[in-house]
Amino acid sequence: MNLESYIRSTPDFPKPGIIFRDFTPMLANGPAFQEMIDRLKARHQDTPIDVVVGIEARGFILAAALAYALGAGTVLVRKEGKLPHATHRQEYLLEYGSNVLEIQQDAFQDGQRILIIDDVLATGGTVAATVEIIRAHFDVEIREIDFLMELDDLKGREKLADLPVHSVLHY
Ligand code: AMP
Repeated sequence: MNLESYIRSTPDFPKPGIIFRDFTPMLANGPAFQEMIDRLKARHQDTPIDVVVGIEARGFILAAALAYALGAGTVLVRKEGKLPHATHRQEYLLEYGSNVLEIQQDAFQDGQRILIIDDVLATGGTVAATVEIIRAHFDVEIREIDFLMELDDLKGREKLADLPVHSVLHY
């Protein structure tokens, strides 16, 4: 199946110069969504994963589906002020200004093998902050970081140099 045909590219959204890569057409199509999750699942068949970490908000959809397929748990990394329990927080820089990510303090047990997932790897700032918050506070093993799409020109994976990164589609 040509999964790329289920990605809709919209120029100048949300601002001029950005081509927004939208996977909602893939989500809306049962066989395409299933194929995408199955492809990711196949990568982790022989390497046990305890928890899939999803990054707000589109990463949640992928994380939950993949975790279910793998029989793993799901942990949410959220924007500031959304998680009810005590959290760790991590500030990171954007092109203009900064953002804050949070994770609950009891998100993992020591030694768990985890996988981080998001829809798009762009500059890598968001996922690098996710790795930082996890490494700063938890004794877990990050097995891989997966994306549905990677924007190769932005070289986001260079921010994740010491970790295995896999993207299903490349732009
Ligand atoms: P970054 O921190 O630059 O890697 O940006 C990653 C986050 O922004 C991801 O959570 C994506 O959902 C979103 N994002 C960045 N660029 C795009 C794009 N061109 N199309 C869709 N989503 C994007």
